[in-house]
Amino acid sequence: MSDERRAHLDPEMLQAMLDGVLTQKQVRRAEAHLAACAECSRNAAALQAVFASLAALRDEPLVIDLSPAVLARLRPHRLRRRLGGWLVAAQVAGAALMLGATWQWLAGILTPLGVPGLSALLAMGARVLDDYVNQMWNSVSSPVALGLESLSSLSISLPTPAIPLAQGVALVLAAAVLWFVGNGVLLRSRPAGQGYGDHA
Ligand SMILES: [Zn+2]
Repeated sequence: MSDERRAHLDPEMLQAMLDGVLTQKQVRRAEAHLAACAECSRNAAALQAVFASLAALRDEPLVIDLSPAVLARLRPHRLRRRLGGWLVAAQVAGAALMLGATWQWLAGILTPLGVPGLSALLAMGARVLDDYVNQMWNSVSSPVALGLESLSSLSISLPTPAIPLAQGVALVLAAAVLWFVGNGVLLRSRPAGQGYGDHA
């Protein structure tokens, strides 16, 4: 029984042989077959040629390596997006602080216009609650309630820090500038991240 009478070497076997992953015994058998079989020798040679050209292609350097340029454009964008998240948080916190700081001043402007301020709303709520408690109390024990008439004089007065007009205007302006600058940065970062062709 000679090797050339065995079945032809299939492409997988030839590839495994070229890859050097066959056992010594398999290699000896395959080589013996190739020595005696012109067809398998041709196939092996063709496969080897393909492998060689692939290897040559792999070693060829890229004409233009785009990866540094792509990474350079991606990194600042990602950083800017992360910065944007912090910026929004800072804006919200800043706006809340500004609103808190200027609330009394704003209430001073809004109250004459008929818009109740925070302290007015709280006082109104306290008055309603006070009346309700008094009514309940009176209905339960009116005689005793007469002696506790001072309960109805309870009123809540919030501490009102006096903010000069100039300082209030400055605070509102600062909030507006913070808001617009933040939005400007956010809006500018978006088209820059999408337009890949504007940078030759
Ligand atoms: Zn063969």
